[in-house]
Amino acid sequence: MFVPINSKLSSFGFFISIIHPTFINFIMKKSLNFLLLCMISIISAGTSLHAKPIRILVITGGHSYKTVEFNLMLASLGDNISFEIAELPAAFDMFLPENRGKYDALVFYHMWQKITDEQAKNFSECISQGKPLVALHHSICAFDDWPEYFNIIGGKYFHKPTTVNGKEFAACTYKHDLQMRIRIADKKHPVTKGINDFELFDEAYKGYYIEEGVTTLLTTDSSDSNAIIGWTKKYGKAKVVTLQSGHDVPTFESPDFRKLLKQAIEYVAK
Ligand SMILES: [Zn+2]
Repeated sequence: MFVPINSKLSSFGFFISIIHPTFINFIMKKSLNFLLLCMISIISAGTSLHAKPIRILVITGGHSYKTVEFNLMLASLGDNISFEIAELPAAFDMFLPENRGKYDALVFYHMWQKITDEQAKNFSECISQGKPLVALHHSICAFDDWPEYFNIIGGKYFHKPTTVNGKEFAACTYKHDLQMRIRIADKKHPVTKGINDFELFDEAYKGYYIEEGVTTLLTTDSSDSNAIIGWTKKYGKAKVVTLQSGHDVPTFESPDFRKLLKQAIEYVAK
């Protein structure tokens, strides 16, 4: 039969036609699309890992603040961070073992003073057993008569002369409405990465105690402030970040401060 030769030729012809440039182009486009899909999947997997949902419990009370603007700042931190506000003294209940599962990290924006022995025990145990914490601004001034609080946040603003570990501290001072240069101490730290030195219009504290051995995150040259204005440490099993800044709306609205707060929350909660 004559057909085999013809059919061989026609098969060859078909083979040639399938490797025609248009076909190669088509295959390459398909491959690129596939590669792109793979990359998107990898990136979104990375994003969802990075954007782990974090429920923060913000402890307030003992100091007034602009609640609307403060809450706007909290709401701006990203879809992965949700928040609830609990005001002291009622908020002491949130440190009880049965309530600790309702949030992933604490943010302090209180300046509460009174605390009973029972409340102090639940409070410190909640954190030492692993509930992470970001302490802001006037929360450095809370609990004048509870020295364990100084150990939790790694610092303390003194309203009156106070002795810590045998060292005497005079009453601290504060100054409002200062234009401050905030310097990043370690640009590779997860709390400060991607943030350059920046300006804040804020209130400074001077003369406050800082625990030895904390890791410095932020400093300032302002003569009305301590040099170290941001640090991190461990308290028991929990990571703690303390930021002195955060008095009022200019800071709440600062993109740099918002990024700092977001990264601090993500760092301690990790
Ligand atoms: Zn203030």
